[in-house]
Amino acid sequence: MGTATAGLRVPGGSGGIAGLVHGIRAGVASCRLCPAMKPFRKPPAESFGTTRTGYVLVAEAPGPSGDLFRDASGAVLREALAQARDGEYRTLEDLFFVTHAVRCIPGNPKAKGKTRAPKRSECGACRPYLAFELRALHPKLVLAVGGKAAEAVLGRPVVMDEEHGQRRRIGDIELLTVLVPSPHNRGALKRHGFGMESYTRWFAGLFGALIDDLRR
Ligand code: SF4
Repeated sequence: MGTATAGLRVPGGSGGIAGLVHGIRAGVASCRLCPAMKPFRKPPAESFGTTRTGYVLVAEAPGPSGDLFRDASGAVLREALAQARDGEYRTLEDLFFVTHAVRCIPGNPKAKGKTRAPKRSECGACRPYLAFELRALHPKLVLAVGGKAAEAVLGRPVVMDEEHGQRRRIGDIELLTVLVPSPHNRGALKRHGFGMESYTRWFAGLFGALIDDLRR
């Protein structure tokens, strides 16, 4: 049985992570909490990836077609993992369980076929889904890509210019907060001394270190 939290249905804890993901998908399908998400386009797939490594990647929102993190920033992260050149962890799905701060696709009313950043209120409304996932997964490390993703994990506003690269512990989970690796974010990346290529290399180093940790 699910429970209701401020009108949002979240699943019970039975059935392991597959059951949890299935339950979340069912809850999302009927969720209407965020008016600006109308017509409530739902991603064809929800959270995905491995639960074996203990690493969770939280992105801000699904891409325009509900794609599995295959937008510009997803492409940078996939390229970074390719640069890490590991034979076992070749895809993001091999290394991370990938989830989102909001479950609906935030369609951009001003640009058909494009998305917009999720609103803070939408991230707050959707947060129980993420919280249930994290509670079920007990990850070692959560990589929050973008301020809204970090806010969804922390439950408070985040200023990315101040918090990029910060690692902190939340209970027994380590949270690493990083800037979105998107060309749209060039200004913030520049303030941290990155261009797109150097930021891709930075992620390659991070992923290499995470993989090394798995083998220790
Ligand atoms: S973004 Fe989340 S809380 Fe908002 S309508 Fe979609 S599923 Fe519901």
